[in-house]
Amino acid sequence: MAQIKIVVCDECGAIDRPTIRYVLGKGMATRFFDLCVEHARPLERILELKPGARQATVTT
Ligand SMILES: [Zn+2]
Repeated sequence: MAQIKIVVCDECGAIDRPTIRYVLGKGMATRFFDLCVEHARPLERILELKPGARQATVTT
């Protein structure tokens, strides 16, 4: 019997969107997430940050 495996977004569960697997770790804890583009946006923003980069603060 043929089977089809579909990976859905862990946040929305939509079956019509491709997903990307992300691995998030803190200390010894590691979690895997499959997220669609929409729900991966916050993680993608973090991945775009340069290590050690901080937001500049403007004082007037
Ligand atoms: Zn989603």
